[in-house]
Amino acid sequence: MTWAGNWASDPPLPPALVLDGQRQPAAAAVDEVAPLELRAIHAAYGGIEVLHGIDLTVRAGAVVALLGANGAGKSTTVKVASGLLAPSGGSVLVGGHDVTGAASYDLARIGVCTIPEGRGVFPNLTVRENLWMATQVRGDLAELEEAAYARFPKLGERRTQLAGTLSGGEQQMLALCRALVTDPAVLLLDELSMGLAPIVVQQLYEIVAQVAREGISILVVEQFAQAVLGIADRAAIMVNGEIARVGTPAEMQSELSSAYLGG
Ligand code: ATP
Repeated sequence: MTWAGNWASDPPLPPALVLDGQRQPAAAAVDEVAPLELRAIHAAYGGIEVLHGIDLTVRAGAVVALLGANGAGKSTTVKVASGLLAPSGGSVLVGGHDVTGAASYDLARIGVCTIPEGRGVFPNLTVRENLWMATQVRGDLAELEEAAYARFPKLGERRTQLAGTLSGGEQQMLALCRALVTDPAVLLLDELSMGLAPIVVQQLYEIVAQVAREGISILVVEQFAQAVLGIADRAAIMVNGEIARVGTPAEMQSELSSAYLGG
């Protein structure tokens, strides 16, 4: 069934993400219900199909790495999961509920948060203004800020600095921080490593691993597999719009070269 509700007036949050009337991190959800599941997803641009039946499950508190060469369909998969692109076939399930066709802002409201390729920060706003924008002035701002700076001390030091003047790694940190203040159940990360030094990428993925340990389910798109395999629970390799293989990071190591070389 395609999602056709109106969460603006009375948001029917998926029961798996609701406890005592409040949305909870996915870890608190019933074990068997995956926070995010893609079933037989097909997607097309201008009538040309680029995803040919993607099945992917992200369990509570798990990091799933979506790997593959340029043009394999990784970003398109994330666009479908985040509501930016409606699939031409198949279903998107959040907490066991069919949300196929829901817009990204509705998915964000039930806890599916996306950090798009190229970072999602406002360069002309300060660090703290970026955080305020993300929270939509909900809750106690000072409290939210302090919690954010406790996790990202560097951002605390730079709270009055314009985001556009931060280093690439700090901007990506801010993008992560912006996502986390929305208290997501599912985090979708597209090419976190883009343009960053390996040491910075490693630091960012250590934070991602910590976030997953707190119960947030994470789907990470990465072109540079090694950067994410160290912290992933499972990895899926995409080739030509299909999932060619899914397994543990160790199982995937040997598959990677052939997937990237098109073998
Ligand atoms: P990359 O790492 O280069 O972003 P990817 O694995 O994320 O690669 P996608 O960006 O999902 O791959 O692209 C999958 C296919 O869809 C490619 O053939 C690409 O050319 C095509 N494609 C992507 N975006 C569009 C678009 N906006 N319009 C038309 N075709 C597109």
